[in-house]
Amino acid sequence: MTQVSLPIAEADAFHRRFAHELRAAPRITTLQINIGLRCNLACRHCHVDSSPQRRGDDENMPPEIADRVIAWVLEHEQIDTIDITGGSPEMNPHFRRMVEAFAAAGRHVMDRCNPTIITHVEKDGTDYAWVPAFLAKHKVEVVASLPCYTADNVDKQRGRGSFDASVQGLLALNDVGYGTDPDLPLNLVYNPNGPSLPPPQESLEADYKRELREHFGIAFTSLFTITNMPIKRWRRDLEQSGKLETYMDKLVHAYNPDTINGLMCRHQVHIDPLGRLFDCDFNHALDLRTPGRETQHLWDVTPDDLADRVIATADHCYGCTAGAGSSCGGALV
Ligand code: SF4
Ligand code: SF4
Repeated sequence: MTQVSLPIAEADAFHRRFAHELRAAPRITTLQINIGLRCNLACRHCHVDSSPQRRGDDENMPPEIADRVIAWVLEHEQIDTIDITGGSPEMNPHFRRMVEAFAAAGRHVMDRCNPTIITHVEKDGTDYAWVPAFLAKHKVEVVASLPCYTADNVDKQRGRGSFDASVQGLLALNDVGYGTDPDLPLNLVYNPNGPSLPPPQESLEADYKRELREHFGIAFTSLFTITNMPIKRWRRDLEQSGKLETYMDKLVHAYNPDTINGLMCRHQVHIDPLGRLFDCDFNHALDLRTPGRETQHLWDVTPDDLADRVIATADHCYGCTAGAGSSCGGALV
C-alpha cells in the first residue's frame, strides 16, 4: 500500500489531479437507493441528518417513484446488485415490495439496516419484528451498523438504550440464520467515535467477533470499517468542538492513491427518494448531483449512459481516500 503524507499544498495538488481524473468504471453494476430519510434514531455522526422527524413527502420514496425504480431495474439486467439505504429503509412502506421484486428477478439485494429498528415500536403500535424473517426469506445481505462493541460508545453516538436494542436486533437476525448460514451474510459496520481514522479492519473484526460472541452470543460474517465523513451533522459537531480543521488535516495527510480504483462512486449510481441521480450517498447529502445529469432521473438514463462518467468530487472525498480507504463495503486496500 502506498501511503502519502504530504504538506497540505502538495496534497491539494494531488487532490486536484484526482478530482479531475475521477471517472466511473466502464460498466455500472450497482444501484444504490436511498429509499427515505426517516429513521428511529438521530445519531451524532449521521451524514444524511436522518431522524424520526424526516417524514416529508420529498424525503421518503413515494409509490410512483418506487414503481419507476422497480421497472428500471427489471429492464437493465446488468444491474446485479441493489443496495438499499436510508434512514431506516424498513420504515418506508414500499421497502418490502421493492425487495420482493428485485429478489424475484434474481438480483443481489443489500439492506443497510440499523439493528435497533427490529425492536422498535411506534406510537401507533407499528412494529418491525417482521424484518429478520422477511430479509432471510429473500436472502437479502444485511449490513448492520454497530459503531462499537461497548454500550457506552454506542449510546454516546446513537442515544441511550441503542446498544441494548442493537444486541436484541442482532440476536433476532442470528435466530433466522444470519451470520452463520453462508446464504445469509450479516456484516457489521464500525465508524470511529471521534475525529480519528478507523483502526485496521482485520484486527478490529477479530476484537468484535470475540467480544460479541463472549458477552452476547452474537455471530456475524464480516466487519466493515468506515471513516466518518466531514459533512452534515458530524461536520457541525466538529465545528462546534473546534476540531474540524484538525480532522480535515488528518484526512488530507493520509491521502492514499491506492484507494481510487475501489471507490464506490466508480461502480455504482445512487438515487435519492425522488429518483434523482448522484454518484454516492455523501454527494446526495450535499445535493451534489452527477455532473451533466442535474435535471435527470434514473428512468431518463441507461446504465451505459452512466459508465465512464465524470464524478462530482469535493473536499469530503478525502474521507474515502484516507488511509486504508472507506466505502460502503469498508476498507479498500
Ligand atoms: S441509524 Fe443510520 S440513518 Fe439512522 S440516524 Fe443513525 S446513522 Fe443516520
Ligand atoms: S465521497 Fe467518496 S464515493 Fe463519493 S464521490 Fe467522493 S470519493 Fe467518490
